[in-house]
Amino acid sequence: MKVLLVRPPRIKKAIALGEFMYSEPIGLEMVYAMLEAKHQVEILDLMSEKICIEDKLADYEPQVVGITTLCIDVPAVKELAERVKKYGGNIITIIGGTQALLNSKAFFSDAVDHVMKYTTTENIAQLYNYLELGAEPPIIDGICSRINDYQTTNKHDRNEYVLPNRESTAKYRSKYSYFGYKPSAIMGTSQGCAQNCRFCLRWRIEGAKESYFPIDFVKEDILNIKEDNIMIFDNDFLHNSHRIRELCDFLEMEQIQKNFICYGSVKSVLKNKQVIKRFQNLGLKAVLIGYETFKDDELNSYNKKSTIQDNIEASRFLKEIRLDVWASFMLHPDWSVEDFKDFRKYLKTLDPEVSSFSPLTPFPNLPLYAEYQDRLLVGKEEYEKWSFGEVTIQPSGMSLRRYYYEILKTNLHVNLARNNIMYLIKKFGVFSVLRLSAGSISLFIRYLKLMRQ
Ligand code: SF4
Repeated sequence: MKVLLVRPPRIKKAIALGEFMYSEPIGLEMVYAMLEAKHQVEILDLMSEKICIEDKLADYEPQVVGITTLCIDVPAVKELAERVKKYGGNIITIIGGTQALLNSKAFFSDAVDHVMKYTTTENIAQLYNYLELGAEPPIIDGICSRINDYQTTNKHDRNEYVLPNRESTAKYRSKYSYFGYKPSAIMGTSQGCAQNCRFCLRWRIEGAKESYFPIDFVKEDILNIKEDNIMIFDNDFLHNSHRIRELCDFLEMEQIQKNFICYGSVKSVLKNKQVIKRFQNLGLKAVLIGYETFKDDELNSYNKKSTIQDNIEASRFLKEIRLDVWASFMLHPDWSVEDFKDFRKYLKTLDPEVSSFSPLTPFPNLPLYAEYQDRLLVGKEEYEKWSFGEVTIQPSGMSLRRYYYEILKTNLHVNLARNNIMYLIKKFGVFSVLRLSAGSISLFIRYLKLMRQ
């Protein structure tokens, strides 16, 4: 069959720090790998290519269009599916991706034939066998089909991770970046996270403890990557010293020289100092850490496994070994003006190379959602507003307008005083910094508008 796999365009209204940057659509690359042996498949990345979907349909004439979804793009994905059906009523439309897993119901409509709650080599092969025959599929595990009134079974609970076919996005790859690193690939070596932070969706989607991909799988994936920069998007790559050692042995043996960026928790940094230094010598350039807050009681309530003292110790160690830190923080809805001031002081103490922050966001699938239900400012189905940037909980210590003002002030402080422009220019060059600045300015304008509203 002729299959077109589509990543929707960027959501303009959503607040996102990485507005001017995006990574490769690795989920689609994996689906491509699952289908390519039996079908003719193409990826259309609408974040990279400005093309009218109807023109692409006329040109490629697919029988199946698969669209991937994140959490915030439900209306855009539905609109794409409607346009596909309007163009060709016989084209089969399939939705997969994060939001299909979290809330498949959001896509139950006449324009959508199948919603993949999760995608495995087994269920996708079953579905395509029926589609190829032009037959109506029975209930297939993990797939909600319109023909079956969206009934399904749930033998699994997550997407299968297979080796992505990176050639499938060859024409777009020069555009993919991770922060200032461009071009950059992304890859995973495990799923799940044992830290179980209360505000986090990822461990709920992927599992409450790490499950590791076989190391040979990881090695093959690295060998397939042509880019010099690799972002390892495991939830806490620094947590398992044995795995880091295995990776380091492989990099040494194969004499691979690449820049790596990964997520790491404070606890893991403090636990695995020696092996982190070794990884740094073999290419680790920056670590993304969620320091989250300056208050121990909040860390506790978030179920973070570290204290403020741990945060300070980890930041000192990382400074000492000169490993770059891109830190993220969460603004609590009960903060007062004084708290925002203390937070800005705390940023100075930790002094990460780059800081970003977002208001605490109680996504509908989290227990936090019920906890804050009485104070929610955003409806469950206002998908674009659940973007980690907009304030979704009514602040208790000040008016919403004042809260946005404090965010703006903190944003300015971070961009002018804390995020070291010279460091960024030296590291990534003027053009990358201009791109990053464009993102910050657009974020600033968005907050300004929200404050005035
Ligand atoms: S460490 Fe990160 S990925 Fe793991 S539960 Fe906490 S926020 Fe989620």
